[in-house]
Amino acid sequence: MMRTNQKLLYLFNEGNAYMTDLLGGKGANLAEMVRAGLPVPPGFTITTDVCCDFLANGEQQLVELMPSVREALKSVETAMRRKFGHPKKPLLVSVRSGAPISMPGMMETVLNLGLNDETVQGLASQAHPSEEGQRFAYDTYRRFVQMFGSVVLGIHKDYFEDILSHKKYLMGVQEDAQLSADALRAIVAAFKEIIQDKTGQPFPEDPMTQLKMAIEAVFQSWNLPRAVAYRDYMKIDHDLGTAVTVQAMVFGNMGDDSATGVAFTRNPATGGKELYGEYLTNAQGEDVVAGIRTPKPLSRMAQEMPALYQQFSEIVYRLEHHYMDVQDVEFTIERGKLFVLQTREAKRTIQAAVKTAVDFVHEGILTHEDALLRVDANQLPHLLLPTFELAAQRQARKQGRLLVTGLNASPGAATGELVFEPEDAVKLAATGRKVILARPETCPDDVHGMIAAQGILTARGGNTSHAAVVARGMGKPCVTGCESCRIDLSAGTLTVGEKTLKQGAVVSLDGSTGEIFEGNIPTVQPDLGSELEILLTWADETRRLGVRANADTPADARKALLMGAKGIGLCRTEHMFMAPERLPVVREMILAENEEARQAALDKLLPMQREDFKGIFRAMAGHPVTIRLLDPPLHEFLPNRDEISEALRASIKADPYGDKTKTLRRMLKKIDELREMNPMMGFRGCRLGLVYPEIYDMQVRAIFEAACSVIAERCSVLPEIMVPLVGHVQELKRLREQLETVAQEVMFSRETWLPYLFGTMIEVPRAALTADEIAQFAEFFSFGTNDLTQLTLGYSRDDAEGRFLTKYLEQGILKDNPFEVLDVTGVGHLMELSRDKARLTRPQIKLGLCGEHGGEAKSVQFCHQIGLDYVSCSPYRVPVARLAAAQAVIQEKKQADMVLSSENAILHSF
Ligand code: PEP
Ligand code: MG
Repeated sequence: MMRTNQKLLYLFNEGNAYMTDLLGGKGANLAEMVRAGLPVPPGFTITTDVCCDFLANGEQQLVELMPSVREALKSVETAMRRKFGHPKKPLLVSVRSGAPISMPGMMETVLNLGLNDETVQGLASQAHPSEEGQRFAYDTYRRFVQMFGSVVLGIHKDYFEDILSHKKYLMGVQEDAQLSADALRAIVAAFKEIIQDKTGQPFPEDPMTQLKMAIEAVFQSWNLPRAVAYRDYMKIDHDLGTAVTVQAMVFGNMGDDSATGVAFTRNPATGGKELYGEYLTNAQGEDVVAGIRTPKPLSRMAQEMPALYQQFSEIVYRLEHHYMDVQDVEFTIERGKLFVLQTREAKRTIQAAVKTAVDFVHEGILTHEDALLRVDANQLPHLLLPTFELAAQRQARKQGRLLVTGLNASPGAATGELVFEPEDAVKLAATGRKVILARPETCPDDVHGMIAAQGILTARGGNTSHAAVVARGMGKPCVTGCESCRIDLSAGTLTVGEKTLKQGAVVSLDGSTGEIFEGNIPTVQPDLGSELEILLTWADETRRLGVRANADTPADARKALLMGAKGIGLCRTEHMFMAPERLPVVREMILAENEEARQAALDKLLPMQREDFKGIFRAMAGHPVTIRLLDPPLHEFLPNRDEISEALRASIKADPYGDKTKTLRRMLKKIDELREMNPMMGFRGCRLGLVYPEIYDMQVRAIFEAACSVIAERCSVLPEIMVPLVGHVQELKRLREQLETVAQEVMFSRETWLPYLFGTMIEVPRAALTADEIAQFAEFFSFGTNDLTQLTLGYSRDDAEGRFLTKYLEQGILKDNPFEVLDVTGVGHLMELSRDKARLTRPQIKLGLCGEHGGEAKSVQFCHQIGLDYVSCSPYRVPVARLAAAQAVIQEKKQADMVLSSENAILHSF
């Protein structure tokens, strides 16, 4: 049943910008523009609630809706002085989707609705009395039947395209606009035959039936596979539904004094302050977005239609100030009269988001706090994506490897194998291959391939084409409008001049310069740009939560500092064991038959570890460095069993009693001994340190010897010794006693006393539950949420994603991957419990987090909310944590202000 007392639709003059949940972004903004007195064709918007009801209950909702639609149409008819279905003065409408969160091009739209064999004559006579009028009207009719046939009736668009192409071929013309009225009339007749043939029904001539069917099709398009995939990718709620806007048509295809275009108030790729966009004369809006004709840059309009350009510039400037955000505006000029058809927040690259946020503050439009909220923290790593090495790129140009230069639609560098079909992109990406998707142009059905690809290249289309807009939204490198290359989808080739590349050929794509190269070009990692530095400085002034980095080498430590980390929250010492020259010594230690032999290997490792720590302490001078003692199961340091057994077989044949055979035998025996059914729950973490105390002894000795040496260089050092995988207080108690002895011994012998902390990771649910006991022996806790998630949910962190977890996400059982976004209700609850218990024993205990979640915005916000002291994440995610921590403070303040103002309102009401 439809909700009672519910308004099913709103005329534009009844809504406003705050009604996006109900009217979708498009409907709410159209209403707002009408309120601001801008030239908007009249119309109305059917609410998202009606869509949700329709999707839940079906046809009956439509029957109940149509009387309201009929009533609303009357207002549009009055304003336009035309009548829907009238043979002489027909009103035509567009029927457009519009979700509360922008999903450009993912759902359906029907334009020019209301045409039939009668009204087409009325349209012709209204437009131009002559042959030109007939041509325009039949061009519009042809577009309508084609769009209705594919969008509403579900007939594949190729059937219509084939008829159109064939007619152009017969008439010897290249462009649609060159077809005569008679040719277009014949095309309409052929389209209708296809419809009769494919659906068994004639084309619906009644405009009201057309409208009802189009509204239904737009509702249904909420669940199109591409829309669902887009929502999954962008993490948009599947329950929002789409609004449907019905709006009077104005025509950009009424001759050379008509045009249609799209404009951004700032450059959406770089954020540069310029009116940026494209338009086409004598065309309809879909022609620009679909990338079928490559449009002209908006700057040309300043010369071709100076007065209109001026009027348009003033309007978009007003819009940007009104919304205090970069706008993406669609406009149409109908015989010299300008109309604005849509405005929405512009999809922009993360570069542009950062630059415009900072610029808006400098221009006095936004406060620091508003600017900080404008940037999606999780997108920041895209800014730090690799770019091509300049010298190598120059060299590639010199070598003649530059294939083509198109439009720099979305920045970033990507190298991969050419693929032409979205399905191939998905298949190859699933096997770990990197691909570049090349298409003549993209359309919404290609989105899954775009998601799978590293970069996208199109032969046609401008900077506002589907490919460009979607790629920018996804933060993927994209080059559009490579006009000089021919892409033959059936042959699977891309040809530029004499050169033909086949599927699988490696190309490198630079979305910042628009260049496509043959072969591979190495990449480099960029630094923070100046605007991001500014934004993050504001974030640092705002946030309370500390941010550290996970770093295992001096180079990582330096990178972490550059990214703004104030210390190392996790140094995984096992990574030092993995270095190729050390692995043989580590294996010697593992294969040792007795303590003496093990100690001999450890003695060799000691100076190496000491040097590592010295490097890190020097790099991090004055900042705390949390060093975690050895954690992984030892088998991870041994070679693959199959390889060893193969080598042993060969060695036995060659020299059955030789040293090599003996060593291989020992190795195989050890691999079998160490084999476990559940290694992640096995002999690892502090369990290693308790069974082989000499391993942790060596590590602690190396840490303190390094610290004493670096202090002697007048560099301050703040080590924090961290024990992994503790689940029982006795584990930590014993290890602490043992390791403190080593630390004291070193400091005594070096006559150097240094401040240090001793603590543990909280990775095992039992440790969280007994945090009060464990806190007796820990000066700090660091939540290892990778393992804590694994052990709390019982999902293997190594296997779950490839198996059921993906399905769980698809089916909506889980909203987010718990290994990416902290499971606040489960794992988060354990963290809070652990915090409370620990503080009972040790009120000042330092609390941090060092799992992957430390670099994910929502999880960082949670860490702020529960009062942790810091989060630690990989160096390239440090900016995410800095910004998200500041956003958490601002949102908390906003919520407090809201509570305060609602309390005041209650007080005043008494
Ligand atoms: C953790 O478990 O969260 C953690 C940081 O340790 P690792 O990922 O090395 O197991
Ligand atoms: Mg762990």
